[in-house]
Order: sequence, then C-alpha cells, then structure tokens
Amino acid sequence: MLDVEKIRRDFPILQRRVHGKPLVWLDNAATTQKPQSVIGRITRFYEHENSNTHSGIHALALEAADAYEGARAKVAAFLNAAVAEEIVFVRGTTEGLNLLAAILGEAQLQPDDEILLTQAEHHSNIVPWQIAAKKTGAVIRVAPMDDNGDIILEEYERLIGPRTRIATFTHVSNALGSVLPVAEMAAIARRAGATVVIDGAQGVPHRRVDVRAIDCDFYVFSGHKLFGPTGIGAVYGRKALWEALPPWQTGGGMIDQVTFEKTTFADPPWKFEPGTCSLAGAIALGTAIDYVNSVGMEAIEAWETQLLAYAGEGLRSVPGLRMVGNPRERGGLYSITLPGIADARVGKLLDEAGIAVRTGAHCAQPILARFGLTSTVRPSFSLYNTREEVDLLVETLRLISAQR
Ligand code: PMP
Repeated sequence: MLDVEKIRRDFPILQRRVHGKPLVWLDNAATTQKPQSVIGRITRFYEHENSNTHSGIHALALEAADAYEGARAKVAAFLNAAVAEEIVFVRGTTEGLNLLAAILGEAQLQPDDEILLTQAEHHSNIVPWQIAAKKTGAVIRVAPMDDNGDIILEEYERLIGPRTRIATFTHVSNALGSVLPVAEMAAIARRAGATVVIDGAQGVPHRRVDVRAIDCDFYVFSGHKLFGPTGIGAVYGRKALWEALPPWQTGGGMIDQVTFEKTTFADPPWKFEPGTCSLAGAIALGTAIDYVNSVGMEAIEAWETQLLAYAGEGLRSVPGLRMVGNPRERGGLYSITLPGIADARVGKLLDEAGIAVRTGAHCAQPILARFGLTSTVRPSFSLYNTREEVDLLVETLRLISAQR
C-alpha cells in the first residue's frame, strides 16, 4: 500500500497555503502537481546539458539528444509500445489530436466517409475532426452515452459501418469520470476496418495503459496530467501507420533532402517533430514516468480506487448534492452540482477553504448538455490526496449546501 504522507513530501507545492489554509489540490484532472525529481530534472537540463539536438557534433548536443531519445524510450515502455520510434512528442493531447486529424484526414478521408466520436469527448477531440470533415467532405457520427454516463455499446456497434474510417474516443471522460471500455470499442471499430484513435489524457494518470493489449492504432496523452511539465505530450502510433502517413507541420529536423523543387522527409517519429521540440519537457516527462514507476501504477490505482469510493460516500451524504453520472467504472473524479447555488460560487467558496476544484464546462459542452447542464463542480483526485482532504471537501460542501 502506498505511503501517502511520504509521497506528499515529494511534491513541494503541497506545502503551500492559500488564503491562509493548507492547499488541497483537487484539480488533478486539469493538471497534476510536480514531484521534486521532475522540477530538478528541468533545472539540471538547463544547468548542465542545454543544447539543441539537431545535427549535433559537440558534447552537449549529443548529451541532450541522448536524454531526449531516452525519454522517448521511457514513454514507449510506459505504454508498452513495440518500439521507441512509435512515440511522437507533441505539445500535449490537443496538439496530438490536431496532428492526427490533419494527417489521417488527408490520407484516409473521402467525401461521405465517417468519423465516429462519442458524446463524451473533450472539445479537443471534437473540433479537429470537424475541421478534417469540412476539408474532406467526411461526416461526423456521435455514439451516445446513457444516463449513467456509460457508452451504449449496442449503439456503438450499430453506428460503425463500412464507411467508418476513423473511430476516436476518450479513455476516461474528463467531465464525468466514466472509464470507457476502450479495448472492446477498439475491437468493434477495427473489425470494421476503422483506424482507432484514443484520447488518453485522463487515462494514463490513473491506470496502466497497454496500447498493444488495447490494440488501438493511436493513443495520445499530455505530460502535465502525469506529473510532468506543461508543453509536452506524446502520441503512440503503430509504426506502419506512421510510415504511411504524410507529415503535418514542416520545417527543420523533419527532412531528409531539400531542394527548391522537392523535399524528402526523415523517418518517423522525427518526420512529425519539426523545429526545436521541448527538450527539457520531454526529458522531464521521462523523469515523471520514472516517478510513477517507482511508486507503482498498481499501487496508485489501488489507492485512488479506495479514495474515490470514500469520496463517493461522503459526497452522496451532502444534502441536495447531485452526482452527474454514475458510470460502471470511474477514473479519478466526480462531477457534482448543488442545485440552487451557481457552480462558480461553490468553486469560490471551496477556494476560500483552500480547496482547488474545477468548475465550468470542462471543455466538454456536449456531454454536459446531454445531462441538461452547462457546468458542474469537479473534484479530481491523485495519488497524493488523503482521506482528510476528502473529509474537508465534504464538510465544506455541507456548509455551502446549508446556505441555500
Ligand atoms: N482530452 C481530455 C479528455 C482532457 O481531459 C484534456 C485536458 N483537459 C484534453 C484532452 C486536452 O489536454 P491538453 O490541454 O493538455 O492538450
């Protein structure tokens, strides 16, 4: 079992106070806090190794390139990719999904082809596909979620057809917390010959992800939700697909030969990493993965499962509180409202008690509209959260509820 007090000492920011109260960080789905090892790794890069990696001959360029490629290998192992070259570094989930929508749109979509989404997608897994559909004449289909916030698998199966070229879905809904049955959905989509893209932004922080067991074509995540820095994320893709796909953004580093008449490109993954990447970001993401591995993903999952069950009990006991969604499996968070009090006010009153939660639409307006809402209050949990913090959340919500 995980030693939460010891873990908390690894995260300097958790010593902070806000409004004179100890910080209670329950906004982990927006971003996680960083352990000292990650912060230290960024500093070490700039103090000792800082260099560009391109065409490096000198010592620092080689060291930086080694560390960067080492980080790629760590991400590959973390996701159980077959080879490190299946990992492309990007700025985050948003950029990864934009990359995929652009290149898959160009390579795979014809007029009247279909892109299947789910109702639970984050805006960053909706809008890029809308743009791709507009450019190519493809059509967007949306698989519905039920009243619990679970995907309706029969409907999903029914919506997949011979024209479905791309099936994309979130691993865990950032607005409801529902864990989607990604392996089952991938199998359904692949049987129909569709390319499967998974938005793993809320998946990787909470459970072991094995892209080969899921059998998806692409899996995207952000470093900053996994204890890494902002500005770095990764896209896993099958090697053969990366090789067949056209580049997206172009420039230095992603080419082989350039003349004014013609350009040939580097091999993947470098073909998809033009310009100077966030080297310190990627390297520190590798350190974040080392941190997760040192704690153990199974231990993290076990602790979070306990904490979520405990939080669920507490939240249900708050008079008048509405839980939005009741999924079969939950990842990391609850979405709640206190009817009669604006969510933003609940968020502000929690903040006064030192508790940080997200309020609003969570960049997922369609799924909230499905529940007749435009916003919720979203406490989201991580390995360093404690039962005492949950107690404080529940107690403060009780006080807020009593003001109605
Ligand atoms: N998808 C999901 C499910 C998310 O929760 C988020 C972050 N809120 C994103 C995509 C976008 O991630 P980022 O802002 O790191 O690009």
